[in-house]
This record gives sequence, structure tokens and C-alpha cells, in this order.
Amino acid sequence: MAKIVMVSAIPADQQNSSYRYLTVNGGTSEMSRSPNQSLLPLTAEVNQQEHLQVGGCDVPALVARFGSPLYVLDEQSLRTACRQYRQAFEHYYPGQALVLYASKAWSCLAVCAIATQEGLGIDVVSAGELVTALQAGAQPSQTYFHGNNKSMAELQLALESQCRVVVDNWYELRCLAQLTAEIAAPLTILLRLTPGIECHTHDYIRTGHIDSKFGFDPDQLEQVFGFVSQQPGLRCIGLHAHIGSQIFELQPHYDLAAVMVSWLQTAARYGLAMEELDIGGGLGIRYTEADDPPSIEAWVKTVCQGVVAACEASQQPLPRLLCEPGRSLIGTACVTAYTVGSQKTVPGIRSYVAVDGGMSDNPRPITYQSVYRVLAASRMAAPLSDTVTLAGKHCESGDVVITSAQVPPLIAGEVIAIPATGAYNYSMASNYNRVPRPAAVLVGGGDAHLIIRRETLQDLIRQDCLPDALGVSSEEGT
Ligand SMILES: *Cc1c(COP(=O)(O)O)cnc(C)c1O
Repeated sequence: MAKIVMVSAIPADQQNSSYRYLTVNGGTSEMSRSPNQSLLPLTAEVNQQEHLQVGGCDVPALVARFGSPLYVLDEQSLRTACRQYRQAFEHYYPGQALVLYASKAWSCLAVCAIATQEGLGIDVVSAGELVTALQAGAQPSQTYFHGNNKSMAELQLALESQCRVVVDNWYELRCLAQLTAEIAAPLTILLRLTPGIECHTHDYIRTGHIDSKFGFDPDQLEQVFGFVSQQPGLRCIGLHAHIGSQIFELQPHYDLAAVMVSWLQTAARYGLAMEELDIGGGLGIRYTEADDPPSIEAWVKTVCQGVVAACEASQQPLPRLLCEPGRSLIGTACVTAYTVGSQKTVPGIRSYVAVDGGMSDNPRPITYQSVYRVLAASRMAAPLSDTVTLAGKHCESGDVVITSAQVPPLIAGEVIAIPATGAYNYSMASNYNRVPRPAAVLVGGGDAHLIIRRETLQDLIRQDCLPDALGVSSEEGT
């Protein structure tokens, strides 16, 4: 059951308005709540003009200033989530711990800088994410490079930057063994394993062999350990697994801890001093009232108890415990503001209301059939009298932001806000239909700062080349 926090300020006649989304475990400025359980950023409020406000900033006013669509990122929600992860490990884990931000959720300089300031390491999966993390101030020793097909250039960059490499497969392991054969200081690596614990949103299954493109098969464990222990250029310090995303159950991570601790024991037999255990990410967030994820604290507590119990049972020392959340750190921190445009009613079927973005700034609905809520950001008290399909502006019938949205009668030019768009939105954004990617602003304490500049039309053609052989005279010249 969703926990409903009533906001006392909401008059009875306005409870069927956009206000109601503030009552879904969110929007009452109580910072001890777990951000991932809230529908809206922790600082979300309604101001005297009945506008949605985030980080003390009026959302329609932000759109007037920075343009539309706009990603509005709440600094307080992001920092609070970082702190809750760290504090929970301090509380529940008697050994050392490190929280990594899985930057694929939203990789940009400002976000990586905030995570770094909050004492988190960064998990990256490409040269681009690696460069972003390091530029933002991440320590190489707290930067972990994942990926199932790192290129030679990426491996070389990892070596030069001295970050840690989470080795995924035999091919990569052999490449690294060659690359490092002659180097003075060995490269620090972890091994990614496929634990045979698979998670879906609401159920999980275990299989002996699981069908995943990531990680070493546990059947190969002894061979891998044997090989690694013979490589002078590789210093293998730990094991890693990641079992899925948007997970609402705690049991899979408890079980994962036990499986991984048993693997540490196997590694010890090969003389490998494994001091780190990286349990991955995966904690879910609330996208609608129907979602009821556990808190950050409850998740960390379960992971810690799982590792401690398994280590006690097998009489092993506690490893340094790592985890790498993405979605649950940043998902709730952002709302995307759009401007309403054209409308179309198909009699007896549905009404479409189109916004000035869609699958290019949020590919989750078309990719995963994800469900979102919408708020009338400039008329928070207006009754939600209509049910409409909120459509994007792209040339795909499937480009729908929300199939069935409760809204007041929407007017062209007004601003609406979609909550829970911090994770896998900007990072998965595209230029489909040559639509420029939106700007992003960081809000807090009534101030807004640009963290990602809006793409211009010139940006869109910057990489294009017109070969002379085409005989076209470009106005821009080449
Ligand atoms: C995606 C991913 C994460 C983060 O997952 P979330 O569900 O966003 O917490 C962590 N580790 C690895 C290896 C991943 O691929």
C-alpha cells in the first residue's frame, strides 16, 4: 500500500487537482523521507499563484526564462538521496563501504560533481562517462569502469586514468592481461559475475544459467580466478554483480549477498585477496501512486545484513562493501516541464494533447511502456476533469508521454510538469526528428543555474559534412 501523507493546506474542493500528487508521499518539505518513495522532488510546493514550485523556483517562470522543454533538477533531492545511502551504510555496516553513483542514469558534469561532493564514487560504462566523471572531480580510485564490450581505446584510457576496471568477460580479461603485461604498477580490477538471480519488477526467478550478455558465468569462476592469479599486471581486488533495475523487493539483494560472499571464499583458495564486494544497484522509485518501493535505508539495511550474516556464517572478514545505485539517487530529483500545443479529439475514442517534446527527451514510455503522472504547473488547484492522451511531437504513433492522463482542460501555451524524470531521460535523449535536446537547470533555495545548455539548430548540423562531390554550395561554407 502506498503511504499517503495528507497535506493539510489542501482545501477539500481542491483534492481532485494537481495538488493531489503532492500528497503522494511527497511535497511537504520533510527531508528525512526517502526521495525514491516520493512522487515529486522533496522541495515541491505550490506557491501563492497556484504554481508548482521546485527548489524554491516557480516552474512556469523557469520555462519563461530558460525555454521549453526544460529538465528541472532539484539539488536537495539529489543530495538527500546521496546522504541517505551513505548514512545507512555507516549505520548498518560495521566495515568500510563506498556508494557509487551509476552515472548512466544521468551523466553530466554538474550531477557527477554533486555526487562526488557528497562522497560518492562514480560508476561509468564508456569513455564518455569516464571523461565526464573525471572532469567533474571524481577520484580515479573511486571511479569504476563497467561495460561488456569496452574498446581497446577505452581500456587504454582506463589504464592511463588509473580508474578501476570491472572486467566483464574473457575477451576483455585477455586484452587487459596483454596490455598490462609490462606495466610498472598493476591495474586494479574487479570481476563481474552473473549470479543466477534475475529480477523483474515484481518477481524474480533463479536459474542455473541465466541468459545475460553481462558478466562471467559462475561455472567459469575457478578458471577465471586461476587465470587472474597468474597475471602480474592485474591486481584483482573484488567481485561485482548487478541483478536488475526498478526492483521493489529486498530479498533478491539479500540472496545476492550470500552468493557473492561464497565466491569470495572461492577466490581466497586461488590466493586472490579480494577485499571488495560490489552488490550493484537496482532499487526502484515511485513513478505513480501505484509504485511502492522500499526506502533507501531499508535497501541498504538488507544488503548489509545479508553480507554480515554470510561472512559470519563462513567466518570470513567483512569486505569493503560497494553499491552503485542510479535511478534511486536521481530519478525523483527531476521534473520535465513541457508547453502544451495542439489538441485533437477523436470522437468517442480519445483526446490527444500534444507537448513540445516526447520520445527524444524521454524515451522510457516508448521503450519500456513506462507510466508517468502529469501536473498542471500553472494551475495546481484546477479540477482534473479531463482524461487525455498526452502525446509527443515526434513522427511515431507510439510517441506518447502518458496514455491516460488526468488533467484540467489544457490550454495551448500552458506549462505542465512530468515528475520522476531524473533517471534515464536526459541520458537516453536523442535528436530524433532533429529536435534539439532540452536545457537542464539545477534549482535550490530559490536559485536556478543552467547545467546543460539547450542545443541550437546549428548544434544539430555541426557534425554534418557536405562532400564537394555533391556539388551543393552550402551557405555556411565547409
Ligand atoms: C544500470 C546499472 C546500475 C544502476 O542501476 P539502477 O537501477 O539505476 O540503480 C548499476 N550498476 C550497473 C552495472 C548497471 O548496469
